[in-house]
Amino acid sequence: MEIPTGKELSTLRRRVKRIDRILLACYGDRPWLPRFPHLLDGLIHTLLSQNTSDVNSHLAFRRLKDRFPTWEEAARARVEEVEEAIRPGGISRVKAERIKTLLELVRRDFGAYCLAPLAQKEPREALRYLLEIPGVGRKTAAVLLLFQLGYPFFPVDTHVLRVGKRLEVIPGGADAEAAHELMDELVPDEIKYRLHLNLIEHGRRVCRARNPRCGDCCLREACPYPDRLGRRVG
Ligand code: SF4
Repeated sequence: MEIPTGKELSTLRRRVKRIDRILLACYGDRPWLPRFPHLLDGLIHTLLSQNTSDVNSHLAFRRLKDRFPTWEEAARARVEEVEEAIRPGGISRVKAERIKTLLELVRRDFGAYCLAPLAQKEPREALRYLLEIPGVGRKTAAVLLLFQLGYPFFPVDTHVLRVGKRLEVIPGGADAEAAHELMDELVPDEIKYRLHLNLIEHGRRVCRARNPRCGDCCLREACPYPDRLGRRVG
């Protein structure tokens, strides 16, 4: 997918800013705060959150930390032991293997089970490093870099992709991978964190996958989707 330029880019950026203002009024601001004291904790939690709910991934992470208080202990453990600890997070064998590989790579590259040196890299360099780790895709990397370091990347999850397409910010045919490049470009850095979180909340509460509540939606004046469907929004 080509990133728009010129007038088209300006129009889309204006639309993004308008959407942000409306969602800000609806859901409020989201002051940035790192979620974990250590980057490696943040990355492992993000890996555990793939393809499961927040509740399950939190539980899996807590069990993993209870079972292995240090990452060195997890690195020394058999993959089956890690798998058992994270079972509530789903696809636990795959995730356990990825965690073990991640720990090996971090130890090899930084000399300890610590990812803090990543914060010394430029954002694009940090992104490239993360994308070479098995199981770390664009969304996982963007979540870690935005949430833990405040780097200017815009994660596109299933809610952001769906709502973005309905609002005609993201082209209908774009997949999440392509949408990351586009949203990085369209969304001003200072609102990336807030808009990401507010779009997710809106996608969960109002712009649901099935039966979006267009009649109750704060974005309905800015959204072409109901008209496209010929839907009455009340
Ligand atoms: S008007 Fe409907 S489709 Fe558009 S953002 Fe709101 S809920 Fe989603």
